[in-house]
Amino acid sequence: MTIPSTRRAFLRGGAAAVPVLAFSPSAHAWLACTDAAADAIAIPGLDGELLTAPADRAAAADDWGHIVSDMPLAVLVPASVDDVRKAVKFCRKHCIKVGPMSMVGNSHSTQGQSQAKCGLVIDMSGLSEIHAVNATDAVVDAGVRWFELLQQTLPLGKSPPVLTDHIDLSVGGTLSVGGIGGQTPQHGLQADNALELWVVTGDGDLEVCSPTSNATLFNSVRGGLGQFGIIVKARVKLIAVKPLARRYSAVYADVATLLADQVALMNEGRFDYVEGLAFPQPDDSYVLTIEAVKYFDAGSPPNDAAMIAGLHFIPGTDTAETLPLYDFYNRLEPIVEFTKFTCEWYLPHPLTDFFLPLSEAADFIESTLAQTPAVDVGYGPVLIYPFPRAKVTAPFIPLPNEKVTVLFSLLRWASSADPAVAADLVEKNRTVYEGVREVGGKRYSIGSVELSFADWILHFGARWPQFLARKLIFDPKNTLTPGQGIFPW
Ligand SMILES: Cc1cc2nc3c(=O)[nH]c(=O)nc-3n(C[C@H](O)[C@H](O)[C@H](O)COP(=O)(O)OP(=O)(O)OC[C@H]3O[C@@H](n4cnc5c(N)ncnc54)[C@H](O)[C@@H]3O)c2cc1C
Repeated sequence: MTIPSTRRAFLRGGAAAVPVLAFSPSAHAWLACTDAAADAIAIPGLDGELLTAPADRAAAADDWGHIVSDMPLAVLVPASVDDVRKAVKFCRKHCIKVGPMSMVGNSHSTQGQSQAKCGLVIDMSGLSEIHAVNATDAVVDAGVRWFELLQQTLPLGKSPPVLTDHIDLSVGGTLSVGGIGGQTPQHGLQADNALELWVVTGDGDLEVCSPTSNATLFNSVRGGLGQFGIIVKARVKLIAVKPLARRYSAVYADVATLLADQVALMNEGRFDYVEGLAFPQPDDSYVLTIEAVKYFDAGSPPNDAAMIAGLHFIPGTDTAETLPLYDFYNRLEPIVEFTKFTCEWYLPHPLTDFFLPLSEAADFIESTLAQTPAVDVGYGPVLIYPFPRAKVTAPFIPLPNEKVTVLFSLLRWASSADPAVAADLVEKNRTVYEGVREVGGKRYSIGSVELSFADWILHFGARWPQFLARKLIFDPKNTLTPGQGIFPW
């Protein structure tokens, strides 16, 4: 399954590509012929395409946030792993930054994390082949999107153990940030379910790593925010799943009760998936709901009364429905399509996600929601759900120092395209972030909070020296993923 040429043409805005043959370090520019500048350096031969047209570069200067726009010098659509290797080696040598980005359907980062100002964006959706689906794992290119993998595994009764709420995200992108979902309480993050990774390091070397071979690289790259290498291929775990999903929902009076029930369910393992959602209301209050799902075989539905027994939701607010498992996994698609139709999909999304210690979570969430009017969330919703810290093994995803962590996500949609509205919400995120730090929480590194170098050191805490040391080993010239803004040089 390679990227169709029509999609490539779309990525290129339909424009004919101007062949790029050389790079001039003095002009910091790509050239169409090798004698166009005295210092022109021929670029290595590539299987894919190097795009320099303004439309291609503009597409790579955008993401789902629509807040940051950092124009790269060029976009590489690789057609082979060797292209990625050659490009990184070349860029490292000539001090050009490289940003891996999944561009089909655009990057889902919200604050320029995959962009590369004056650098090279590598569009990872050029590598989109599913190589093998085995009994316990699948081998996929990093540009494959989770829904594409599911379409091959579900007919075999298999699924990755953890899925993000939106399944149109790239394998390489979510393994690089973590990848959390309602199955995380039982199975950890997506990054915890990677079995083997093929990585092009900042030196341009291709290395294969796993928990037992080259484990230092493996543990750096999982959740490593693209700082140590570009994941080009991954072996990801698959588990047996049932074909149907019984989805339960109920309303709660307060966050403390919701969390207490979620933690009890998590410890008991009664459901396959548990999340919590707070929906903003016109009067600026929030409707707090639990969403819990049990997978089952046709003819053996779960007993509804038993599934919700002992829970403390508001009586009479519970509902239950059955869906094919794929439809449950793909539940955001109708919302995505609707908001694309209304164009709201294209508004800025200054969202932010945090990890809170359970002991502080209820009070912190209640008080933050009380100060967050509906207009500051928009479509929302707000996500609230706990998971055990011990399930997360990726070392560079810092979590609060308690046994149970609570995900708290303000999935903000700006009410207009006015950049001032998004800027105001990004500033509000900063205020919430400072409050999160005061209660011992951490940021999930995917949203829109502006962090200084000092903030990043605080973020990694005791793991910062190790993070820095690994950067010096695997990307010593700081070539990779400048958009995360961790290393300001
Ligand atoms: C509607 C919606 C719902 C979402 N729901 C969830 C959710 O439930 N759970 C969750 O965890 N997240 C969720 N996300 C956030 C998502 O995980 C992030 O946006 C993440 O960045 C992945 O998006 P992407 O695949 O487009 O990667 P990108 O945004 O392109 O990349 C993310 C980061 O990883 C780097 N990167 C990309 N590819 C590679 C690679 N192959 N190797 C190394 N580095 C790479 C990029 O440079 C960037 O720094 C959601 C996002 C949206 C828009």
